[in-house]
Amino acid sequence: MRIVVLAGGIGGARFLRGLKLAAPDAAITVIGNTGDDIHLFGLQVCPDLDTVMYTLGGGIDEEQGWGRRDETHVVKEELAAYGVGPEWFGLGDRDFATHIVRTQMLGAGYPLSAVTEALCQRWKPGVRLLPMTDDRVETHVAVTIDGERRAVHFQEYWVKLRASVDAHAVVPVGAEQSSPAPGVLEAVAEADVILFPPSNPVVSVGTILAVPGIREAIAGAGAPVIGLSPIVGDAPVRGMADKVLAAVGVESSAAAVAEHYGRREGGSGLLDGWLVDTVDEKAVERVEKAGIRCRAVPLMMTDHQEGHAAAEMARAALALAEEVRGA
Ligand code: GDP
Ligand code: CA
Repeated sequence: MRIVVLAGGIGGARFLRGLKLAAPDAAITVIGNTGDDIHLFGLQVCPDLDTVMYTLGGGIDEEQGWGRRDETHVVKEELAAYGVGPEWFGLGDRDFATHIVRTQMLGAGYPLSAVTEALCQRWKPGVRLLPMTDDRVETHVAVTIDGERRAVHFQEYWVKLRASVDAHAVVPVGAEQSSPAPGVLEAVAEADVILFPPSNPVVSVGTILAVPGIREAIAGAGAPVIGLSPIVGDAPVRGMADKVLAAVGVESSAAAVAEHYGRREGGSGLLDGWLVDTVDEKAVERVEKAGIRCRAVPLMMTDHQEGHAAAEMARAALALAEEVRGA
């Protein structure tokens, strides 16, 4: 079975750990978000690709959900001693090595997809990890700070400002001119199942879908498209997805996110099926009215280190895909 997953960082990575348990023989291709990428200290940092790679490769800081385990911060301290920041973005020593290797290879002319493949030779994530594009796409957020309107890099909005200022728009700068990385469209076309994990619908999955060609490929794919809600009980399980949903005019609920993706069959959307958490049982009727097959199952990845809860979620998603196929 060939499975394609559109993933952001933590939510995507933890779900993928479960999917690997649920479908050990499947060939899994992950299309990773690169809109969160940021250039720091002359290095290219790809937070979402690295979260997937470290999580599946056994190198993640499990508590934090991002960065390396057993991390130290000597380089950052030394940079700070020179007065060189930003101090608000966490980069540990072990993590720095990844960004140095990546930047060196990019400088030598390798595209990000080839660099990611090379990094994965060390981590062996057990999936094929593709960046959504080899081109530069950077998510910016239009905000109002002290009465003044301006655009900031997504990381500044998310990490430095903790999403505490009003966001008016989310713009994947460069997306319109970008093209899918090699292998992305082929993987979608050849997939038996396409999954949207419980990743951020705006700044993770939404950014991937903003790369011209990817949305169209998914809309036209032969495989069922099934999503899992990152919103449980009208709030994000982690992070501040409600803030960016508000910025694009979508209410923070499992049903509203499904409607935002939209119905694929006979519609202009992307979903054939949608899973909501059992606490959102009441959302099932609304989602089905919107023409999307919907089930309520436990969606909390409580034991994320072991991944059993995520594996159950993955099984439910694959079962729903079977149902769609049989219909
Ligand atoms: P990021 O790039 O690190 O922000 O990660 P993603 O975009 O992949 O995932 C972020 C989303 O994961 C957030 O909107 C969370 O609500 C969601 N999330 C995190 N843990 C869980 C969980 O256990 N269950 C569900 N349903 N969603 C989760
Ligand atoms: Ca991210």
